[in-house]
Amino acid sequence: MHMDAVEIRRALDANEFIPFFQPLVVLRTGQLAGFEVLARWQHHTRGLIPPNDFIPSAEKEGWIDELMDGILQKAFMIGASIPEHLTLSVNISPVQMNDMALPGKILSVSQQTGFAMDRIIVEITESGLMGHLESAQSIVSDLKAMGCKVALDDFGTGYSSLLHLHSLPFDDLKVDQSFVSSMKDRRESRKIVAAVIGLGQSLGLTTVGEGVETQEQAEMLLWMGCEIGQGWLFGRPVPAAKLPDVMAILRPKISLGLSTLLASN
Ligand code: C2E
Ligand code: MG
Ligand code: MG
Ligand code: MG
Repeated sequence: MHMDAVEIRRALDANEFIPFFQPLVVLRTGQLAGFEVLARWQHHTRGLIPPNDFIPSAEKEGWIDELMDGILQKAFMIGASIPEHLTLSVNISPVQMNDMALPGKILSVSQQTGFAMDRIIVEITESGLMGHLESAQSIVSDLKAMGCKVALDDFGTGYSSLLHLHSLPFDDLKVDQSFVSSMKDRRESRKIVAAVIGLGQSLGLTTVGEGVETQEQAEMLLWMGCEIGQGWLFGRPVPAAKLPDVMAILRPKISLGLSTLLASN
């Protein structure tokens, strides 16, 4: 269900869009690497609404910039008060990929909030890349010049070619969760994930496994050489108020789990 424009306009003015944060974890050590910022609509009567139900309408109405600016403001403000080694990954809508001013906008939010550019990972999806190849190239190189990292999100679901992966200065490669979730039952998925991780490694990219829900998936990814994991196993997206809990709980539990299992192999 896509919310209608009038409701979204009201919600923007009422400041109802907020960032949630989902942990990214170093698979080998269990250490927290950072969080992905995921937009939520805290609706005054309907409760929490996921991004797929409002981002498309916001894009269509031309409000995605305004929406994202608010999300980034809030997220970086919060980010400025978490430990300095932690990064924040932010999602850029395909529609924003034809806006050459985007890197400058991110820089200005970084400066306003005091959340340093070198702690920001900008996630671009394959469709964002392919839809606006020329401006995407300039946006990615500007972001890199300003000190951000850039990740290719949902890899394997779109139509980018290996040429783009190779010619654009990406830092991270995020393996789409559809492959990770079907690894257990499908040999082909397992092979695809292994190949993508190998490809990322040989291009010098940090690979991130998305949608890690089970210990088995985490171990399989680690074994294939994947560096970072993200998914319900490590933690669901949480509001800012829950960040201290996540940071306190996560590290010991996960590192114990993985290293213990590896030691017994
Ligand atoms: P994404 O960037 O690929 O984000 C990962 C999605 O997978 C998130 O869904 C997250 O909640 C979900 N996820 C994480 N771990 C697991 C897991 O273990 N199992 C399962 N089943 N799902 C998991 P979410 O938050 O609903 O976001 C959906 C998409 O909406 C995102 O996909 C992203 O493309 C877009 N999005 C989210 N926030 C923003 C935003 O601020 N701006 C823009 N432009 N797009 C956003
Ligand atoms: Mg993402
Ligand atoms: Mg993703
Ligand atoms: Mg995804």
